[in-house]
Amino acid sequence: MAFESEIQDQVAELNARLRNATPQEILRVAVETYGERLAMVSSFGAESAVLLHMIAQIKPDTPVIFLDTGMLFGQTLDYRQQLAARLGLTGVRDIRPQYQDLAVHDPNADLWKTDTDACCNIRKVLPLDRAILPEFDAWITGRKRFHGGERLRLAVVERGEKDKVKFNPLANFSKEALEAYMIEHDLPAHPLVAFGYPSIGCWPCTKPVEEGQDVRAGRWAGTDKSECGIHVERATAPVEVGGDI
Ligand code: SF4
Repeated sequence: MAFESEIQDQVAELNARLRNATPQEILRVAVETYGERLAMVSSFGAESAVLLHMIAQIKPDTPVIFLDTGMLFGQTLDYRQQLAARLGLTGVRDIRPQYQDLAVHDPNADLWKTDTDACCNIRKVLPLDRAILPEFDAWITGRKRFHGGERLRLAVVERGEKDKVKFNPLANFSKEALEAYMIEHDLPAHPLVAFGYPSIGCWPCTKPVEEGQDVRAGRWAGTDKSECGIHVERATAPVEVGGDI
């Protein structure tokens, strides 16, 4: 593993080089730079098909980490299977929460009602850490600046949590560009998009939005929460729950 200053230098250099590059150029550089130490993380949500199609054209066996929180819509699980098969992606991995974490901290699957941060921690943050930390030095996300909030200042390449490098190839992409790409490549939409869901996560924490609302307005609607914790810098390791029952 590289030293902290080396990672900072590398991120600065990549960012300067790729700031105005196309998503495909960014993906190619990520693949060439990190090879087998690179993964993509995808929710197989409303906008995921675009980035998945792009990586399928460049390196279809790229490991794609899909966090199956146990709380996803059935339509998302179906879409994950159908889209991966259609795009020829051969490296999709279904990552699930640890049984012990659920048994101890969320035995009735209702933690989301009282503590969404704790629920996201055991169902998303910890499983992703376990999937990424030992095997990968860099990963690709599908975040975009037009999502608003903390994503407005999103860099194309950033030093992520635990000194992993994060590539955001669609940081500069607009909603219109996404829609045009979907049409150009005849990509199937997530089935819930037609029912007013422009951003899709777990069923208890995702609502449809009204015309004109922000893309992510339906995520944890009515609360201050806007991110699950995966993309939030953690000064220390997340609290490791689970272990012995
Ligand atoms: Fe739990 Fe909701 Fe977070 Fe999903 S989005 S892990 S249900 S709190």
